[in-house]
Amino acid sequence: MDLPRIWRLKSQRYKLEGSQCKSCQKLSFPPVQVCSDCRSQEIEPFRFAGKGSVYSFSTVYNPLTQFTEFVPYVVALIDLAEGPRITAQLTDVKPEDVSIGMKVEMVIRKISEQSDKGAIVYGYKFRPPIK
Ligand SMILES: [Zn+2]
Repeated sequence: MDLPRIWRLKSQRYKLEGSQCKSCQKLSFPPVQVCSDCRSQEIEPFRFAGKGSVYSFSTVYNPLTQFTEFVPYVVALIDLAEGPRITAQLTDVKPEDVSIGMKVEMVIRKISEQSDKGAIVYGYKFRPPIK
C-alpha cells in the first residue's frame, strides 16, 4: 500500500473520519470522492463522534482465521447519531446481551493479527456505553 492510502485508512479506522458534501451536506462513511446524492465533488473530511445505536446484528461463529480469537462475536449495522449506517464489530458485550436499538459508542481495539506478517491491526469497534 502507498503511504497516502495508509494514512487515509488510519483516519478511517482510528478517528471514524468520513466525509461531508459541501453542496448538500450529506454525510458519508467511509468517505467518498463524489456525493452519492447530488454528484458534487466538493467533499470535505467529517469526523463522526462515534455514538450510535444498533440497527441489526448477527453473531459470528465461523470467522476468517484472523478473527478466531474473538469467537463468538457480534457484527452489527450501526446507525451513527449523525446519520450514516456502518458495519462494525461489537466488543465488551456478550452476544445474548445485544439488542436492536441498543446504544453503542466507538472504542479503538485490536481488529486482527496477521500471523504471517506479525502485524496487529487496530481500529474501531463499538461497545455499550460505560454506566
Ligand atoms: Zn451532495
